[in-house]
Amino acid sequence: KKFIGDFSENLQQRQTPGVLFCTVKPAEFEHPELIDFNEKLSEEIGLGHFEAKDLDFLAGKNLPENIETYATAYAGHQFGNWAGQLGDGRAIYLGEILNQFNKKTELQYKGAGATPYSRTADGRAVLRSSVREYLMSEAIHFLGIKTTRALSLVKTGENVLRDEMYNGNPQYENGAVIIRTAESFLRFGHFELLSARKEFDVLQNLADFTIENYFPEIDKNKHEKYALWFQNISEKTADLMVEWFRVGFVHGVMNTDNMSILGSTIDYGPFSFLDEYDLSFTPNTTDLPGRRYAFGNQGKIAQWNLWQLANALFPLIKDEKILQEILNNFGNYFWQKHDKMLANKFGFDEVLSEDLEFFTQWQSMMQDFKIDYTLFFNRLEEVSEDTQFDYFDDAFYEILNGESAQKFNQFLKVYRERLTKNKISREESKALMAKNNPKFVLRNYLLFECISELNEGKTDLFDQLKMALEQPYKEIYPEFSVKRPSKFDDVIGCTSLSCSS
Ligand code: AMP
Ligand code: MG
Ligand code: MG
Repeated sequence: KKFIGDFSENLQQRQTPGVLFCTVKPAEFEHPELIDFNEKLSEEIGLGHFEAKDLDFLAGKNLPENIETYATAYAGHQFGNWAGQLGDGRAIYLGEILNQFNKKTELQYKGAGATPYSRTADGRAVLRSSVREYLMSEAIHFLGIKTTRALSLVKTGENVLRDEMYNGNPQYENGAVIIRTAESFLRFGHFELLSARKEFDVLQNLADFTIENYFPEIDKNKHEKYALWFQNISEKTADLMVEWFRVGFVHGVMNTDNMSILGSTIDYGPFSFLDEYDLSFTPNTTDLPGRRYAFGNQGKIAQWNLWQLANALFPLIKDEKILQEILNNFGNYFWQKHDKMLANKFGFDEVLSEDLEFFTQWQSMMQDFKIDYTLFFNRLEEVSEDTQFDYFDDAFYEILNGESAQKFNQFLKVYRERLTKNKISREESKALMAKNNPKFVLRNYLLFECISELNEGKTDLFDQLKMALEQPYKEIYPEFSVKRPSKFDDVIGCTSLSCSS
């Protein structure tokens, strides 16, 4: 049976034993309206130019005969608990496309209607969360971080019922559908589902397919290939966490079903960049009060998620000791990369033993004084012999008192002394900082304003943000490189968001 992503069919949760997918057709939206198309990405993946007639395709309508759309099943641990079968509840695959360099890209609709894995939800997405994913995944890409990307943003013309923006009062919002792209959308959860079902042959098939297609660095003739693969996944996952820390990105829902097997950023929900530095910050209202997915926890949670993946892969690896060893090494590997990353942000050419104490002091200063993470490093790049705390004024969310100002000045003094231990010149050090510290991050309040304007039919801010995010290490629009204005401090949907959207 072919399922059509139409909520009226009231699809039942579906088990698909022995396979991880079933075919499903996107819902047929009557009045789709194009908001944006990513021409550059389209060229890159080999899809070419957009023409008006392509709108149907972007909205999942009148697809060519040779495209068989499908959704996949996966499982996952959500907020630390086994959640059983989940799956693409509102994602529908279009398949793969090959570009001129033989590079393959997978395409997926998000918000194109219910699938047999939707459980009780509607398979829809609202414009608000679709704009967030559309812009943010591109922002993360241009920051140089592995991520899924976004090809198109289309208003469906449907109204979708949601409650989170309005303190529990359900409201209709504009529906939207995006096409997103990835080298692969495979998640930890795909492997977890097969393992939980004890379908070890299929598990092995999927593992072999994954290694063959996405892990060319692994010698598939070695008998320990699955262990090597798991180690490689661990390292890629750690690398991603380090990158999130570098730019101050908080994912917000690091459930194992939202963890890419390729170490890529995936599933944009209640994410946020840091404004003020705060290790305990979570943008996800569902994550309160536990703060499991807070900024400072992301490394630890990645490791916890890898434990779940290790359990799932055990039937292939069958060696507890080696899995333990890989998982135990995660911390070392992560911290080494993390400290090198932080050193680069400070313009240090290498990590000295004294730096660990320096980093700790810096961290508590940032946390205590409520300092903007991005602006702090931008100002630090310009520090000279006589720079004092007031040079950082526009990065402070609270005015420093006398004692705090003195502490800050003392920190600057220690920092300048530390710079003298560099083997590179001050110019080279500054270049290192410029490369590692973005001047533009797509802050939640900017997205919030952009969405408000789009809902009023204005696209100026949307267009400007798109320009800014393509060159985040430059200051294209100085008005975007400021701390969060205080009027947004407690605005729901701006500082905090809920999980489902
Ligand atoms: P998330 O927390 O966004 O990663 O979603 C968790 C699970 O819920 C995934 O399996 C999603 O596919 C599913 N889901 C989230 N929102 C919807 C929706 N509106 N309709 C159907 N499934 C959804
Ligand atoms: Mg998800
Ligand atoms: Mg989601």
